[in-house]
Amino acid sequence: MARYTESKCRICRREATKLFLKGDRCYTDKCAFERRAYPPGEHGRARKKFSDYAIQLREKQKVRRMYGLLEGQFRKYFNIADSRKGATGENLLILLERRLDNVVYRLGFSNSRIQARQLVRHGHIKVNAKRVNIPSFIVKEGDTVTVAEKSKKIPLFQDAQEVLARRGAPGWVEVDGNEFKGTIKALPVREDITFPINEQLIVELYSK
Ligand code: SF4
Repeated sequence: MARYTESKCRICRREATKLFLKGDRCYTDKCAFERRAYPPGEHGRARKKFSDYAIQLREKQKVRRMYGLLEGQFRKYFNIADSRKGATGENLLILLERRLDNVVYRLGFSNSRIQARQLVRHGHIKVNAKRVNIPSFIVKEGDTVTVAEKSKKIPLFQDAQEVLARRGAPGWVEVDGNEFKGTIKALPVREDITFPINEQLIVELYSK
């Protein structure tokens, strides 16, 4: 399976924002972006004037990398979002939020979306009491997401409450940390996504 091998911290520096790709480290002073908040490379600190296209491209790359998707996958989500009623940009973000790997991350069961994806792939996660090992699985209202019984002993899950206390869960999920269980109370809405994103730039980029 294709995947990116570029250093995660370089990705944050290139996108000029903390994307929280490395879990715990992102919350410490070891975070590379905290120490070097400028793009990587020899000319990283040079002042540049960006074209409209470059600004749109960077916004798309930021969101795509935050959710850990390849270009083709991201484009597919955009096409689905575009075919649905409502604002395409909002539809896109809401679809991305509903991916199972993102939900596992939001519930505090993992330190990063990358880790969440591995947990799903390795069969540690159940949806409505059935094992689901597809990270792109889209949750719906009323679904319950739980950690498989045997997996609850894994130290990572034992830390889940601590992770959640630090990050907080969005309003559209309900978390029962003792039971390692999350419920999708309602589908997310745009206001639930507080990370600074200008999705209109992505729509403009793909509409060219
Ligand atoms: Fe990004 Fe900082 Fe985390 Fe590295 S440690 S992935 S720079 S947020």
